[in-house]
Amino acid sequence: MLAATIGYLEKQRSAAQRDAGRAGSRRRVLLGMTGAVGLGVLAWAVRSRKGREDGVRARAPVVDAPRWPAPGATLSVPDLRLPPPGVPHRVVIDAGHGAPNNRGNTSCRCEREETFTLAAARAVAGRLEATGAFDLRVSREGDRPVTYHERVEDADAWGAEAFVSLHSDVRGKPERREGGCPVSVLSPGFSVLWSDEGEATLVARRAALARRVAARLEEAGFLPYDGAEYTGLYAPDAAQRGVFLDRHALEERIFVLRRPTMPSVLVETHHALDPREVTRWDDPFTLDVFAAALGAALLDTLAFGGP
Ligand SMILES: [Zn+2]
Repeated sequence: MLAATIGYLEKQRSAAQRDAGRAGSRRRVLLGMTGAVGLGVLAWAVRSRKGREDGVRARAPVVDAPRWPAPGATLSVPDLRLPPPGVPHRVVIDAGHGAPNNRGNTSCRCEREETFTLAAARAVAGRLEATGAFDLRVSREGDRPVTYHERVEDADAWGAEAFVSLHSDVRGKPERREGGCPVSVLSPGFSVLWSDEGEATLVARRAALARRVAARLEEAGFLPYDGAEYTGLYAPDAAQRGVFLDRHALEERIFVLRRPTMPSVLVETHHALDPREVTRWDDPFTLDVFAAALGAALLDTLAFGGP
């Protein structure tokens, strides 16, 4: 009984710690993404002070920490080191699907992928714009279908420096249906796709962007997908977990990965059939962290030239 009581108290304490950590992360988002130069330093100072105050939490065992997409898995906002004031980096956030006769998948809530991606693209673009480091365009608006050719041509004409296509994934066969909607909990996580077709310099820049995006997402607490259902479609990139190369038959390869003249990647944000992930993506905080991780990866490659 005593052991059970202690176990209960431990659980209560770790829940409180998680909540405290999350509140701290929200503050860091606000501080880190206001866009003014110098606030990055301020955010760092706040984090450092908070780290000292939370010394007890820092020493708490983490072996049983829940992992994404468990409800208690913690996401944390990455450092968003902003470049000196200058011309903002032009980036297209492509809301996947919403093309003629191309609506995308149907989620475990029977939501169309094109609906999810449009909302996510707008949310991500708004958050990145607020940093002051980016000039953002979302590739489509409202209900008008937009071809992928048009999106890529627009990005080129505008002088975009990067093209990031947002999608949700469907992997393998659904294990069951709930309320008429397909459900699968076997393949969670994000993936970042890129293409190694084309001119060597562009291919190298695509690879760098894809790997930085995945690395930043993993650092923030998102789960890299293991690729088990990708055999024959995508090949794992040996350099970074969660990154995959397009290996579809040539005529079926992904247009927005091959044709943009600027570095382009496709992010499968989560498995659309997994109710745990869909629930996490309902939370605006998930979008805060995702946008900050994407922004950090874009700056790693566009502003700081590395790694
Ligand atoms: Zn898709």
